[in-house]
Amino acid sequence: MSKQGHLTQLQHAGKEHRVGSGLVSATEISVTFESASPTARPIYSRLGNTSNHKELESVLATLHKADEAIATGSGMGAFNLILMTLLKPGDHVLVQDTCYGGTYNLLTKVFGPWGITASFIPMVNWNQAIQTNTRMLIFESISNPFCVPQDIGFAVDFAKKHNLLSVCDNTFASPSLCQPLLHGVDIVLESATKYLNGHSDVIAGMVAGRKSILDLLRPPHAYLGTFLPTYQCTQLLRGLRTLDLRMEAHSKSGTLFARALGQEPDVAAEVNYGRGMLGHSSEAVLPYFPRGFGGMVSVRFAAKVDVKKLMGNMSLVTNVPSLGGTETTATMPAYSTNWFMTDAEKIKYKIDDQLVRFSVGLENTADIIADVLAAAKKST
Ligand code: PLP
Repeated sequence: MSKQGHLTQLQHAGKEHRVGSGLVSATEISVTFESASPTARPIYSRLGNTSNHKELESVLATLHKADEAIATGSGMGAFNLILMTLLKPGDHVLVQDTCYGGTYNLLTKVFGPWGITASFIPMVNWNQAIQTNTRMLIFESISNPFCVPQDIGFAVDFAKKHNLLSVCDNTFASPSLCQPLLHGVDIVLESATKYLNGHSDVIAGMVAGRKSILDLLRPPHAYLGTFLPTYQCTQLLRGLRTLDLRMEAHSKSGTLFARALGQEPDVAAEVNYGRGMLGHSSEAVLPYFPRGFGGMVSVRFAAKVDVKKLMGNMSLVTNVPSLGGTETTATMPAYSTNWFMTDAEKIKYKIDDQLVRFSVGLENTADIIADVLAAAKKST
C-alpha cells in the first residue's frame, strides 16, 4: 500500500475487497453485537471497534502516515482524549498564543481547575515560558483564526530538546497538505468536521500517531465516550475519498482570493495566507506544505469598511462559524471563535471588529472575489 500514490491510497485504504460485498461499506447501526465466543469483538459500538471504525481509522492512519488512528466524536473529543490520558494534575502545557477558542477554553476552564496549567505564548518565545513541570506543547499547523502556517520543525526541535510531547492540530491543512508526523510531531489531531469530511454535515475528530501512544489512548477512549457513531464513520469516509481533489481546488481558490484581496489595500489592510504570498519569507514553512495552503484566509478590512454590514451585504459568502465545506463561508472571530475573550485580550491578540476569517470554497473564485469587494464597497 505504501508504494501507491496518494490518490490511489485515498480510494483503496481500509477497503476489504470481497466478492459479494458492497462496493461501499454498510453502516453497522446495531449498538451491540452477538459474540461468537466470550472474547470475540466487536461487542458494543461505544468501544469504537466496529468494521466502520476500522475502515475509517485505517484511512486516517494511511493519510497521516501513522501507525494507527482513532476516530473521535468531535475535534474537541480528540483533544479531551489526549489531554485526559497523557497529562496529570500538576502538569504544564505550552500552547501557541493564537489558537482555536475551544482549545483555549478547554485548557483554561476545564483542565485549569483540575490542576493542569497552560501558557499561551508565541512559539518563538516558548524558551522563556518553559517550566520544570512542562510536559506537552500544542500548536496548530495553520493557526486559527489568523491562518498563519507554522514552523513545524521549530516546534519539533523544541519538544525534543525539552523532552515534551508535541501535539499538532492539523485541522486547517488536513493530511492532504500537511503530514505533521512525517516531520517528527508525536501526535496529530484534527477536527474532521472541517476539511476531512468537507461537506458541513458531520461532526467528528481524529487522533493519529505511533502505536505506543495510541495504545495508551485506546482504553480511555472506550471509557470516556469519545467514540464516533458508526453512521458518521461512513459519512466521513465518503467525504474523505475526495479529500485530495478538494484540497487542491481549495488551495487554488485560497491563493487567488488572497492575492486579489492583497491587491486592494484600500479595502483589505492585511491579508494572511501562506507567508510567501504577502512578501514575507516562506522558506521556513514551505517544506511542511508542499501542495499549498488550502482555503483558509484571514482578512483585516480597512478601518473605513463597516465589517458587520459587510457580513450582511455578501450574497455568495455565508456568515457561519465553521469552515472547510464546499461553499465559501466567513466569520468574525471576535463574535464566534474568540467571543469569550475580554476586551483587553482581544486588543492583545488583535481580534478586532475588522477581522474576518474566510473559508474559500469551490465556486468560481472570481465570483467570490467580486462578491466580497462589492459588499465592502457597499459597507463603507
Ligand atoms: N481545532 C480547530 C483548529 C478548530 O477550528 C475546531 C473547531 O472549529 C476544533 C479544533 C474543534 O473541532 P470540533 O468542532 O469538531 O469539535
